[in-house]
Amino acid sequence: MSADEPLLAIERLSLSYLVGGAALRGLKDVCLTLGRGRILGVVGESGSGKSTLSFAIPRLLPKNARIEEGSIRFAGIDLAGMSEKTLETIRGASIAMVFQDPLSSLHPCMTIGQQMSDAQRAHRRISARERRARAVEMLRLVGLADAEQNLDRFPHQFSGGMRQRVMIATSLLLQPDLLIADEPTSALDVVLQGQIIALLTGFRERLGTAILIVSHDLGVVGDAADDILVMYAGEVMEYSGAGEIIHHPLHPYTQALLRVMPSRRARGRPLPTIPGRVPNAHEPIVGCAFAGRCEMTRSVCHAKRPDLSSVGARKVRCHIHNPDSGWHDALEIPVPAGLTA
Ligand code: ATP
Ligand code: MG
Repeated sequence: MSADEPLLAIERLSLSYLVGGAALRGLKDVCLTLGRGRILGVVGESGSGKSTLSFAIPRLLPKNARIEEGSIRFAGIDLAGMSEKTLETIRGASIAMVFQDPLSSLHPCMTIGQQMSDAQRAHRRISARERRARAVEMLRLVGLADAEQNLDRFPHQFSGGMRQRVMIATSLLLQPDLLIADEPTSALDVVLQGQIIALLTGFRERLGTAILIVSHDLGVVGDAADDILVMYAGEVMEYSGAGEIIHHPLHPYTQALLRVMPSRRARGRPLPTIPGRVPNAHEPIVGCAFAGRCEMTRSVCHAKRPDLSSVGARKVRCHIHNPDSGWHDALEIPVPAGLTA
């Protein structure tokens, strides 16, 4: 790996899910880079492909998923074409994952101490005493007091927020270079969400861990992330610095997402949503994936898929931001009914 190569570089990654002989869209031409110690937020509505992307990186995909094209370079090595055996050494040790529901990853009948010990045993040759000491250290680091006693407790004896802290402590035991956190806070209340995000960002500072945080809420990751990737129907719609996305979003989809951020809604008010629906994974998309819900569409939007264009250092997949797309051509005047051109 050369010194200027990012820790993670994904290029034109396309993936589909095979269901009943049909190939359903999972990811299409996804590109991103993540440097050491950087934080990338991945946002988008339900079904936009955030989890698919998260699981594709360590190749922990369901059996019916097929990577069709593209590369996933991690520390200079392409994971997309790597053997399962080599991948196993990378997973856990260099790339760790934290999920929305820690109960799904923690064994209900094993103490936290046993689980944290096992997580290390698979990758490091160190004594049981050293493993326990390291587990205590990590529990303290995630703010769990009485770390020694907590090691002898079972997952159900912890609250939701504490369990998420345990999961984060476990995932960081081996000091991974990359931590992928898929909706790590969406099961928690707003105060706990903030604490968990602050905890994750603290690790980037202390341990230099690069973090990819997935959320459907731009408000949750907006402040913590350096960069944000906005996904829709398996595609990257906008990708740039977090401040630019939050304060000057370019893509109409990003603008719509900002208007409906759950974390910004007034208490007691119903959750606003973006009108229209996300295209189903089996529906072919001809033009822009967002065209059916966008208020800025012109005929080109329904006819041609936009490229991921560069706008300065930013990337946006929208005809409006590509001067050559035809969107800016002479204003389209609808032909009155009854007349033909
Ligand atoms: P959410 O916010 O609900 O978690 P997401 O952005 O994480 O959504 P994904 O779970 O990545 O979305 O799903 C992307 C698309 O892929 C969806 O249309 C989903 O139905 C489909 N999908 C995911 N897993 C499979 C699978 N194993 N087989 C078929 N389709 C799948
Ligand atoms: Mg998901």
